[in-house]
Amino acid sequence: ADKRAVTVIGLGPMGQAMAGAYLDAGYEVTVWNRTAAKADALVARGAHRAAGAEEALAANELVILSLTDYDAMYAILEPAAAALPGRVLVNLSSDTPERAREAAAWAAGRGAEHLTGGVQVPPSGIGKPESSTFYSGPKEVFQAHEAALKVLTGADYRGTDPGSAALFYQIQMDMFWTAMLSYLHATAITAANGITAQEFLPYAQSTMASIPGFLAFYAPRIDAGHHEGDVDKLAMGVASVDHVVHTTEGSGVDAALPAAVREVFRRGVERGYGGDSFTRLLEVFKAS
Ligand code: NDP
Repeated sequence: ADKRAVTVIGLGPMGQAMAGAYLDAGYEVTVWNRTAAKADALVARGAHRAAGAEEALAANELVILSLTDYDAMYAILEPAAAALPGRVLVNLSSDTPERAREAAAWAAGRGAEHLTGGVQVPPSGIGKPESSTFYSGPKEVFQAHEAALKVLTGADYRGTDPGSAALFYQIQMDMFWTAMLSYLHATAITAANGITAQEFLPYAQSTMASIPGFLAFYAPRIDAGHHEGDVDKLAMGVASVDHVVHTTEGSGVDAALPAAVREVFRRGVERGYGGDSFTRLLEVFKAS
């Protein structure tokens, strides 16, 4: 772990940025990618080009994987399994918690360690300590390579369960895409009403900036099982989302998104939670 050397397998935009960050930090970098030409620029900057996956694995203990998904990892590493014993695979490819747990067992069965990673930034965020990546897996393995991992981004260790980093990554994505789509939907309504995205921007930002306060208010109540409708009531929420659906339709915009939100609220009301806070919808999510 003391050797400042690393192998990077997978040279999409992410893997290229990662290999580049290691070169910038003075590491000895070995790279391999299925499409060899994607290594050219890195080789020109001093990286070693491995002739194959097995050679790439053999070059260094620490092996960063930046692939589309875990299937790509199996496709590459199965035929090169002879070189796996003693390797530390840091899998920065996105996939599900279950797939990450399977991969950790798969690696262990072949004499390798596996750390799951969930990178929270685009390629432009690689090499910046303020960026963050979730990691999970054996703690001593994480600690042994923490300094090397921090060349890429800040490191947020989420525990020994190999699925944990993938879970934290996916829940961020759950929020991110739903929130971004809510923004895009609102922008479709403003556009239909002759308002530019630029004009809407400060209002959209202000709405998003109000969210952390709501989260801080509701999180302890959720943990305490406190869903009383003292500050908001589900029945009120249904009426409110209903107005959003009608405003959307009135603007000639597709209403599938707010209609789906209204449907969740309605299911809560049907179950008799109309007088409770919207947080009671957790019961609806649990059962579906
Ligand atoms: P790409 O999909 O562009 O790169 C994928 C890499 O996987 C390429 O090197 C590709 O090789 C390789 N690959 C895919 N399938 C196979 C296969 N069957 N056999 C061999 N190699 C294969 O992804 P990115 O670089 O953008 O991202 C990498 C990972 O990081 C992904 O899991 C992504 O979800 C995650 N991520 C990406 C972010 C981003 O903004 N880009 C942000 C956060 C996470 P080849 O070049 O030969 O096709």
